[in-house]
Amino acid sequence: MRYDVIVVGGGPAGSTAARECAARGMSVLLLDKATFPRDKPCGGGITLRAARLLPFDLAPVVERSIRGLDLTFSRRGGFARDAAQPLFHLVQRNRFDHFLVEQAVKAGATLRERTPLREIERERSRVIVRTGSETFEGRTLVAADGANGETAKRAGLTVPRWRILALEGNVTPSGRFPERWQTRVGIDLGAVPGGYHWLFPKGDHLNIGIGGLPSVGSALRRKFEEAVRSYGFDPAALWGVRAAPLPIRRPDTPLIHGNLLLVGDAAGLVDLLTGEGIYGAIWSGRAAATHLAAHLDGKVSDLEGYRQEVERELIPELQIAFQMWSLFHLAPAVAANLLWRRSNGPLSRLIGWTRFCRLTQGEDRYRNIRKDLRPLWSILDLVLRPAAFPFASKIFETFQR
Ligand SMILES: Cc1cc2nc3c(=O)[nH]c(=O)nc-3n(C[C@H](O)[C@H](O)[C@H](O)COP(=O)(O)OP(=O)(O)OC[C@H]3O[C@@H](n4cnc5c(N)ncnc54)[C@H](O)[C@@H]3O)c2cc1C
Repeated sequence: MRYDVIVVGGGPAGSTAARECAARGMSVLLLDKATFPRDKPCGGGITLRAARLLPFDLAPVVERSIRGLDLTFSRRGGFARDAAQPLFHLVQRNRFDHFLVEQAVKAGATLRERTPLREIERERSRVIVRTGSETFEGRTLVAADGANGETAKRAGLTVPRWRILALEGNVTPSGRFPERWQTRVGIDLGAVPGGYHWLFPKGDHLNIGIGGLPSVGSALRRKFEEAVRSYGFDPAALWGVRAAPLPIRRPDTPLIHGNLLLVGDAAGLVDLLTGEGIYGAIWSGRAAATHLAAHLDGKVSDLEGYRQEVERELIPELQIAFQMWSLFHLAPAVAANLLWRRSNGPLSRLIGWTRFCRLTQGEDRYRNIRKDLRPLWSILDLVLRPAAFPFASKIFETFQR
């Protein structure tokens, strides 16, 4: 059989692309090297803005809804702040991703598990995919194979991406679930250059992790254990500890090439300020389906519309997130105290807690901050261009060891 679309990778980007394509009547093959439910290193924070992109309720897989942050600074001091409405849901990725894949199958996608892509042959209007013992043919190909994916590379592309390094693990509290973590997450700023450590409470356990610039190197493990202790747990009690990268887009990271299209982590669509990648994954999976439909229906001759839409709608958001990350991490404790601690006034609405809540809940977009702070942001646009990430990283690495 010749499929309209072959999607490699059944994470949120791939399952969304597969579901939306199948729902539009395209024949879809969704390949994954794993068998679902499969786990994936992740805090499992699904912002309301990400959940809103999905046309179904996530209740069956939500373990906890979060309204507030419990902030500390280099594991000391700090404050807590709550929102009137939930900010995000916490899930376990094995259950969440499986649920999303099930929705793709319900919509009509054919799922092949334990099927790792090994080789690709491409011509103008067809793709041959080899997975070891089997060969599949499609008209188009979606690379949704995540941060370490090789699909685009096997199709002959270079996919440069910067990286944030993360290390995470879980701890199951003895006795009653701690009251402190019923509806809040823990975030610590300043312990690691350009990043933070977190505590995300799930149904019966807590996910603790740390992410920052790769230069932190072997100190990441030590800092991770310090983070675990700072929340009152013994690192020896951790289970499921693992490291993983978060890919950060470079200006030259490709989005399309002929009949190949990159989505989610494969295209580096992660928000550097928060580390949120699931929004970009679902968003790009949806956009991919829109443009694949137009192309396969013969309405447009190529997939250029996908590149243009991502560059017009999503990349400016990631760029502003990068600019905010660069400013915020110059002095994270000062910034958090100034912007999030008390005020509900104009500063809070402009760039503080109120705005953070609205962004997370999908009521606002980063680009409106740029618009509201136009003169300042014009300078930032000149200085902090997308290619400035290595430069900004160097500054944090030098001054925040
Ligand atoms: C420690 C950590 C914490 C994070 N926390 C959060 C968070 O709380 N909230 C958030 O929004 N984001 C978070 N992220 C980012 C988020 O996990 C990713 O951005 C998101 O999973 C990207 O989805 P994806 O579908 O692009 O890729 P993935 O979810 O990685 O899915 C890729 C899929 O491709 C499959 N695959 C790979 N290679 C092949 C192959 N050759 N053949 C077939 N299949 C293949 C894999 O098995 C996998 O199922 C975190 C990341 C890390 C590392």
